[in-house]
Amino acid sequence: MISPFALLYSYPVIFVEGYFVDFKREFSMKDFNFLWQAWKKMDHNFQAFSQLTGLKCLKNCSHCCEHHEIHVPIFELYPLALKLYQSDQLAAVCEQVEQSMANCPFLSEHQCSIYEWRPSLCRVFGLGKIQHKNQKIFSLCHLIKNNNQDCVKKLEQIEALEELETFSQLHLPLLLHFSPAETEVLPIHLAFQKAAEKIFLYFQFQRHNDEVATKEMTVYTKRT
Ligand code: SF4
Repeated sequence: MISPFALLYSYPVIFVEGYFVDFKREFSMKDFNFLWQAWKKMDHNFQAFSQLTGLKCLKNCSHCCEHHEIHVPIFELYPLALKLYQSDQLAAVCEQVEQSMANCPFLSEHQCSIYEWRPSLCRVFGLGKIQHKNQKIFSLCHLIKNNNQDCVKKLEQIEALEELETFSQLHLPLLLHFSPAETEVLPIHLAFQKAAEKIFLYFQFQRHNDEVATKEMTVYTKRT
């Protein structure tokens, strides 16, 4: 059976492969703002979906984080890597991540230890509305489905759900914004290591940007 998470990422592959070649791209702090805006929209849609349907993740559930292989694009881990770099924790966390055998190295005692900085995929865990060919379909976690069968049966009748953007609609602008090398989808620990490398090199070779980056990151984190 296809995992709902594999399905979530299946939409852009042909599009991206068909139209883009890899290129060396200048790393910019504006990227964080772009990512941040997309994440906020996803959070908003997730909450609206939950309110309209009555469906939400089960209390203290970390099933998705523990039992699915978590694959994400590299750019999704830039904000986390930058935050860790600026608090001098990047090297230590890279080491921990390298040694972790878990599906997600950021899961700690059934909780997400990077909740504010978690990638897009983690923002729609359990409840996803996706575009599949010409159809919009719901990609729901089986635990949520089994525990809320009445709500699930009524899903098709909730017209307001039509208004909500799908994961594909929200995520595609991000994939188009970042370069193909940065949109490479990898297991989360590898994606984090690549993001950490990029952040590390940015500060090693572009020290003059340090002050600007720190200032912009301060603005960015204050919005959380
Ligand atoms: S980053 Fe957080 S939410 Fe995402 S899989 Fe890991 S622990 Fe779960």
